Amino acid sequence: MPLSEFDIIERYFNRQTLQRDDVKLGIGDDAALITPPAGQQLVVAIDTLVEGVHFPLDTDAEAIGWKALAVNLSDLAAMGAEPAWFTLALTLPHSDEEWLAGFSRGLSELADKAGVQLVGGDTTRGPLTVTIQVAGYVPAGEALLRRGAKPGEEIWVSGSVGDAALALQIQQQSVDITPADKQSLMHRLDQPEPRYRLGVALRHLASSCIDVSDGLIADLAHLCAMSRVGASLDYEAVPLSSAARQAIAIHSEYRELPLYGGDDYELCFTAPGERHEELELLGQQLECPLSCIGVITAELQLQCRDRNGEILALAKQGYQHFGDTNT
Ligand code: ADP
Ligand code: MG
Repeated sequence: MPLSEFDIIERYFNRQTLQRDDVKLGIGDDAALITPPAGQQLVVAIDTLVEGVHFPLDTDAEAIGWKALAVNLSDLAAMGAEPAWFTLALTLPHSDEEWLAGFSRGLSELADKAGVQLVGGDTTRGPLTVTIQVAGYVPAGEALLRRGAKPGEEIWVSGSVGDAALALQIQQQSVDITPADKQSLMHRLDQPEPRYRLGVALRHLASSCIDVSDGLIADLAHLCAMSRVGASLDYEAVPLSSAARQAIAIHSEYRELPLYGGDDYELCFTAPGERHEELELLGQQLECPLSCIGVITAELQLQCRDRNGEILALAKQGYQHFGDTNT
């Protein structure tokens, strides 16, 4: 007998042991009841993943569960918010228990890790679609915004970029790297680590922030457009994982992927030069390296220079991107 909607909720979604103090009433009534802490602003984000659009048909259920929450937590991180709770609207073609078990495992693994509580949702039948809405808190007036970057400030990015885009290439065609490197790139695509601890720590350090979901150049262009500034990047300073380095050393045609590939869910932010050492220390404390990759300019364009100081041909693409977002 197929599971009823009620059974699905009880068996797979109403089982989190985490009980937050601000959640007065979670799953089970007509709606959830939340008491936000005094003096805090509520930060809310929502993202939908559709099968065949945002992930391939054969994607592992556990990876879908993890990623659906991860992309939302990444948006909260970019605002400097502390994650608190979320709701889940799940549309399923049929009640496949193995799929549900994997999905809820991936989802609750990240939820427990991040301290976010599932407080409600909706379960319907139809083409596989996962919508998660997440909420977090930030002390009033302290949220990080895309606007706020000023000429002369440094541009930083967390972790490494390009891994998820390289993983997609591996899925589509054979890339000549070791199995261990392949696995580490695939892990970045399936289980991105949203940088919510870094986001909170940046509240008093960064002047602007965005998460890298569309690609470093594209997202930096959004930040620059909102701040009404430009940027000059140093290609050699853009942080690559050792697996990405290996892949690019063998396949030089992937050299630009770290600049243009999406789905990394790192944070890109700006800060005055005086904060440089503090930020390097913060990266060590959080075990999430922070790399200074360039400077904000008054001139409204995006440029990227190679090690000889020459402007890379790819900067033109970046510039056009910047132009697009400005219109
Ligand atoms: P209603 O008919 O009032 O919308 P539902 O039967 O849809 O109620 O939901 C019953 C309870 O289960 C509600 O508290 C709802 O938030 C929760 N719920 C439904 N689907 C999910 C889900 N996929 N994940 C978490 N909670 C859910
Ligand atoms: Mg309902």
